[in-house]
Amino acid sequence: MGNNCIFCQIVAGEIPSKKVLEDDNFLAFHDINPVAPVHILIIPKTHYPNFAQTPPEVFTPMAEFIKKVAEKVGVTDYRLITNNGKGGGQEVFHLHIHFIANPGGTLKWGKLV
Ligand code: AMP
Repeated sequence: MGNNCIFCQIVAGEIPSKKVLEDDNFLAFHDINPVAPVHILIIPKTHYPNFAQTPPEVFTPMAEFIKKVAEKVGVTDYRLITNNGKGGGQEVFHLHIHFIANPGGTLKWGKLV
């Protein structure tokens, strides 16, 4: 577990979260500050600081888990984002993939700086 890692604390049940789906290795829960009607965070239960510091083999089962999250919430159209490092907009240093969707509509895309 990462020292004082908020997402490790969510995994441990020490901080509450609105869970969407869970298995032995991954957890999906609603973002506390959603940027779209559906904004879910998907994390490995094991602490890796970010994308660059995660072993590649984690991503194959994580991809399968993300597809199950999509099925569970009933969306086929969505956006996946991971912010890597402070300059990439990362604020919580436990790997997470943002699952963002606007069911029945579209997501905007535009300049980020
Ligand atoms: P990032 O900037 O990529 O590190 O994203 C961190 C995300 O975690 C933000 O979208 C926050 O709204 C979200 N977040 C922070 N604390 C919590 C929490 N306790 N429960 C759910 N989402 C959180």
